[in-house]
Amino acid sequence: MSTETNSLVWFRKSLRVHDNPALEHASKGSGSMYPVFVIDPHYMEPDQSAFSPGSSRAGVNRIRFLLESLNDLDSSLKKLGSRLLVLKGEPGDVILRCLQEWKVKRLCFEYDTDPYYQALDFRVKEYASSIGVEVFSPVSHTLFNPTEIIKKNGGKAPLSYQSFLKIAGEPSCVNSELVMSYSSLPPVGDVGSLGVSEVPTLEELGYRDDEQDELTPFRGGESEALKRLRKSISDKAWVANFEKPKGDPSAFLKPATTVLSPYLKKFGCLSSRYFYQCLQRVYKDVKKHSSPPVSLLGQLLWREFFYTTAFGTRNFDKMKGNPICKQIPWKEDHDMLAAWRDGKTGYPWIDAIMIQLLKWGWMHHLARHCVACFLTRGDLFIHWEQGRDVFERLLIDSDWAINNGNWMWLSCSSFFYQALRCFFGGGIQYNRIYSPISFGKKYDPDGKYIKHFLPVLKDMPKQYIYEPWTAPLSVQTKAKCIVGKDYPKPMVMHDEASKECKRKMGEAYALNKKMNGNIGDEDLKDLR
Ligand code: FAD
Repeated sequence: MSTETNSLVWFRKSLRVHDNPALEHASKGSGSMYPVFVIDPHYMEPDQSAFSPGSSRAGVNRIRFLLESLNDLDSSLKKLGSRLLVLKGEPGDVILRCLQEWKVKRLCFEYDTDPYYQALDFRVKEYASSIGVEVFSPVSHTLFNPTEIIKKNGGKAPLSYQSFLKIAGEPSCVNSELVMSYSSLPPVGDVGSLGVSEVPTLEELGYRDDEQDELTPFRGGESEALKRLRKSISDKAWVANFEKPKGDPSAFLKPATTVLSPYLKKFGCLSSRYFYQCLQRVYKDVKKHSSPPVSLLGQLLWREFFYTTAFGTRNFDKMKGNPICKQIPWKEDHDMLAAWRDGKTGYPWIDAIMIQLLKWGWMHHLARHCVACFLTRGDLFIHWEQGRDVFERLLIDSDWAINNGNWMWLSCSSFFYQALRCFFGGGIQYNRIYSPISFGKKYDPDGKYIKHFLPVLKDMPKQYIYEPWTAPLSVQTKAKCIVGKDYPKPMVMHDEASKECKRKMGEAYALNKKMNGNIGDEDLKDLR
């Protein structure tokens, strides 16, 4: 290979230096290397008031996390004699211009299964081939190649976690040596007049930092990801005994799980293969450890399962036209949706979780269960796609495959059987509803979590903290929180609302069965 080759490494999700095969390939034998990130207008919507259901654009927390990750990547590249080149515009157009202007001979970027990238990458690859540019697009966001798993399964995505595990076996990275660092990288060539800039600030992208009184404690970037990973795995007993359903969803000062999702998912600041190898090393060092689906390794494999299923299922992000999704006549109610989104349902446990989402962009898995169940089949009977949109905008770990998969799961639209076996040990799926009162109380009887995220309730005595509307007026007055004035009354009464939801779910299930034996049922029959 000529040392004069110009290569371009296009960073999208893999915002890291360690275990980044696209970067590795681009750097080999290149005279100059252009490390590019494109700020994509499709992804931005700074105006909160313009945010409506259906809008999946990123909120301020995720953009801040992205910019921190880009700054961290830029500083790592600079230490290696390179730097990050930031450009703005429709990514396909920008990359095509870069290939021409910089006379690039090799284009390297991580393979992506999201539909948005599938379409974009197809166009870029076609163009690159037509002008003789070599394209290298390895699978490195996931442990397994979803295309290979689907092929091994006769062309269909496995629809249960257990069948996924059986087909997948061990990932090929189990024994491979990962490239974790470099002594140097090829220099950046002349960038010409393409409008290359430094990493922008939030304000330059139209977002405002001062709208929040409490910033997320999770900072973006590869350095932070590796620090967080090392801290998590240094406690070998914790890793060995990790069992997901046993964690405390109200633990916010020291979360019960790793909080590695923002680093793994959206931004790829952490390599899932490196995480996998670190877990294997811990497991080798201890006498016994938990196993999938509840172990930490099991969590990583849930990620793989959802990626594969999402990739192999048409219309995975919709109810209509999605062969694995139950058809349920969800309600349209913009006011109810807005109250749920803004943490104004009148149920402190639900509202505190939604405020944690708004402020931190992250909450525990079981907390996500509770608010998703409340919005859909538990209380409000609102479409899972609308809750999905809210999560998609506000989560810092928002991920197309995993978010859609989990919303279908929680709304009992799909994947439900395995879910309930794992968390509740069986039963009729939609009848198991999370109580917005007693579920949180089990973990946090004093309501510390609620008091942190809903300071208006900080003086409410603990016996009323989960149901403040039951407190006598004298107690509400003393706590400086009058229900209906300072804090909302419950928007529905849970006992009645959940009964009505179960009735509607029963009817919808019966209708699905009558229509076609339900495709979801058919596909999921290997679970029974
Ligand atoms: P840990 O328990 O420490 O797990 C380690 C890693 O395993 C995680 O970082 C994550 O990569 C993976 N993982 C854990 N649980 C799951 C799961 N259920 N499905 C897939 N992968 C998993 N996770 C996202 O990353 N992005 C989303 O957009 C997202 N949306 C969700 C929506 C709903 C309605 C629900 C119920 C869950 C959603 N999850 C999502 C899954 C899960 O809640 C988070 O991955 C998890 O809470 C992240 O915290 P952690 O990194 O501390 O997890």
